[in-house]
Amino acid sequence: MTAEAIQVGDPVSAVATPALVLDLDALERNIQKMADFAGNHGMRLRPHAKTHKSGHVAALQRAAGAVGVCVQKLSEAEALAAAGVDDIYISNEIVDPRKLTRMAALAQRVTLAIAVDSRLGIDRLAAAVREAGAQLDVFVEIDVGQGRCGVAATEAGALAHLVASHPGLRFAGLQAYHGKAQHLRSVAEREVAIHHAVTVARTAQAAVTASGLNCPLVTGAGTGSFALETASGLYGELQAGSYVFMDRDYADNEPQRGVPVFEHALFVKSQVISRGLSHAVVDAGHKAHAIDSGLPRVWGRDLEFANGGDEHGILRARGDTLPELGDTVWLVPGHCDPTVNLHDRYVVVRGGLEQGVVAHLWPVHARGCLI
Ligand code: PLP
Ligand code: MN
Repeated sequence: MTAEAIQVGDPVSAVATPALVLDLDALERNIQKMADFAGNHGMRLRPHAKTHKSGHVAALQRAAGAVGVCVQKLSEAEALAAAGVDDIYISNEIVDPRKLTRMAALAQRVTLAIAVDSRLGIDRLAAAVREAGAQLDVFVEIDVGQGRCGVAATEAGALAHLVASHPGLRFAGLQAYHGKAQHLRSVAEREVAIHHAVTVARTAQAAVTASGLNCPLVTGAGTGSFALETASGLYGELQAGSYVFMDRDYADNEPQRGVPVFEHALFVKSQVISRGLSHAVVDAGHKAHAIDSGLPRVWGRDLEFANGGDEHGILRARGDTLPELGDTVWLVPGHCDPTVNLHDRYVVVRGGLEQGVVAHLWPVHARGCLI
């Protein structure tokens, strides 16, 4: 009830806790920085919207020059299309014929593309697209080191040909994303991983072109490695997602010299609800922030955060003294994407976390879109 009572124009201090709060000034700076980086290096930018699941954030990215967004799931694409996003790449595989039928229907409303890594997937996709009379860009995914989706580089040519053999499908290039490389802490480790990814992607591209097909684009990269894919000269499009919000896990990466550093823009506002002699308890546990990549960092104060369960966080003094009962404590989530998925809406703040005002209340349009 109380949470709903907040209005645009209210001071941040009035926002009930726990709340997912977006620092709009920091968000805009992050969006502009990445757009400038891509523009200055002649790269297309197609940010991953699985981070924010928001038509509003997507619109800001598009306004800054992004060519569209990526999503991971069909229902995510449907929700963002309903929220006004008109160019969407599903950077993931779908093999269920019923989903492919839905996807072909969506392809008639927005510009849509998808990744594939199997003959069965391509044949089923082609059947659904033929049925609907739709037209679709298709990227063949190669495994560049993550050991997740994607075929070996040597198989890319055959799959590309199969795609191109179907009238409704256009072979658009290679999906070459290395997820495991993103959070390797040192620049040197990330360089080794992306060097491997680039080598594999080059082999796959050569296999495609040797088989007589043009390979229009190699797409991939995330917040931890985008400058390395850019430097390769092979990739033409960046899919980074987390840079818009910057979570604690990404902030723990060693920064690469000459590469933009992004600010924390996503926070969980929490409140001290209990105070012991040597600890304070806030009302934000792991139902308010995802802990798969580790615990949140307390923002602006040197305090230790310990897991207190689903609804609690336990603070202990480090460099700073403990907050008092009723005090506000700002948390930087360990992992932004799944944190967003825990909340119905963003409280979007202009003018800073302490003195700012609520500028917007944005729904998390694709919250819970897993299907
Ligand atoms: N592309 C793909 C296929 C992904 O799975 C992800 C994230 O896992 C990204 C891009 C974006 O990565 P990040 O949020 O780490 O920038
Ligand atoms: Mn993530």
